Amino acid sequence: MAQIEEVPVGTQSLDRFGTVLGEEALRRAGATAAAARERLAGRTWWNVNSTAQGGGVAEMLRDLLPYVRGAGIDARWVVMEGESTFFRLTKRLHHAIHGSAGDGSPLGADERAAYEAVTRANVDALLPRVRRGDIVLLHDPQTAGMAPPLVEAGATVIWRSHIGTDTANDQTRLAWDLLAPYLTGVAATVFSRAAYVPDALDGAPSVVIAPSIDAFSSKNRDLPDETVRAVLVRAGLVGGTAGSAEATFEAQDDTPRQIEREASVVSHQTLPSWDTPLVVQISRWDPLKDPEGVMRGFVTLLDGPDPIDAAMVLAGPDVTAVADDPEGATTFAALLTAWQALPEAHRSRVHLANLPMADIHENATIVNALQRHAAIIVQKSLQEGFGLTVTEAMWKGRPIVASAVGGIQDQIEDGVHGLLLPDPADLGAYTAALRRLLTDRAEAERLGAQAKERVREEYLGVRHLTQYAELLERLDGPAA
Ligand code: UDP
Repeated sequence: MAQIEEVPVGTQSLDRFGTVLGEEALRRAGATAAAARERLAGRTWWNVNSTAQGGGVAEMLRDLLPYVRGAGIDARWVVMEGESTFFRLTKRLHHAIHGSAGDGSPLGADERAAYEAVTRANVDALLPRVRRGDIVLLHDPQTAGMAPPLVEAGATVIWRSHIGTDTANDQTRLAWDLLAPYLTGVAATVFSRAAYVPDALDGAPSVVIAPSIDAFSSKNRDLPDETVRAVLVRAGLVGGTAGSAEATFEAQDDTPRQIEREASVVSHQTLPSWDTPLVVQISRWDPLKDPEGVMRGFVTLLDGPDPIDAAMVLAGPDVTAVADDPEGATTFAALLTAWQALPEAHRSRVHLANLPMADIHENATIVNALQRHAAIIVQKSLQEGFGLTVTEAMWKGRPIVASAVGGIQDQIEDGVHGLLLPDPADLGAYTAALRRLLTDRAEAERLGAQAKERVREEYLGVRHLTQYAELLERLDGPAA
């Protein structure tokens, strides 16, 4: 039998949202929570995933579950156990769901047997704790194999995929051929976008629940202007002096700390000043985020009859720190070579920043400050899952220029919450969008303000939890 580890979950009151939601929205959330508490009295809501740390799912569970417990519902989080061979196999599945071959290893009968041995050992460890009528929410491909015995034990089982792709191919079919048989008896499946629901799932209803961001985290909490400046000066991203404010951030335990680490920035001569409008893209160093295209399009604005006074910061996680992502280092090296080949007048306006990763709250605070300071946030991805960097920038009221790919299309209506690029490879359209927002600041502000409202309504934790509550209500049928 495997060891199922329970992750401690704190409690948090929904009242906290009083600072970001209106009274009416807060009242509705409270009513939803009360109804859910009644519905789930005597039942436990289990969440099962494969890691307590690292990755978006763990982050989301850590952010959201405290509100559920705070509402008086017995929400639990348990983490399954597996060995490296299992996680290599599930990583292979993960790539296949995205439509790519990963390491090219097979996904056949042997792999199914290996997968099942691990999920069976885990579900055997969990079963004695699950009662008939409990809700079990299984997250991602690692856990799908646990579904059938839980269904048999009388639990309401929901499986959620946090990944997906719009277009089916041989790889996606391989992945769903392996996973679908485990999901025939579940009460529902959940996907982040409608386009991600695969044809292979034809039993249970599939519902769409988009991700959300945590408005109170280091990444997204409000920062006064003077703190933004102090953080960016301390982190070595903006020149000049920090002013009188301190570059403080709050760690998870609410203790105040100072930004101590500088970003490693490749610049020609000087850093941008505080007053220079910044065009910013923040992403992993990944060819699919097209950092080179982002740079090449930007520099054309610096020439011609109407040159624009602006600078660009391309930022990502320190490539020397992310040991498990050798592709990051390769992508950054290629970008650096392209930057070195730029004429001096262009090079001096583009800054390549590797952000320190030693303390996740410090990194998140730098990302927060950079997003808040940006005149424009760019996300010129060639492909995208959901695009959390876009949600984060929208929440900060920034004007955004982004590709119409993946979940970005769900988040931004073109001309309402930002500007969308129908063809991410069209550099002319990209630079025209940048020029438009850098010269028409009233338009930029309007888009930014509407983007923030959109996140308030659609992409905060309350909406996310309300959708889970609605799903449970639907699965239980109408109350007696
Ligand atoms: N991010 C970060 N530090 C960095 C660069 C990126 O914390 O130096 C975060 C970013 O804020 C976002 C996430 O990484 O929360 C990227 O998620 P997204 O959905 O945009 O893209 P993915 O990396 O999943 O393709």
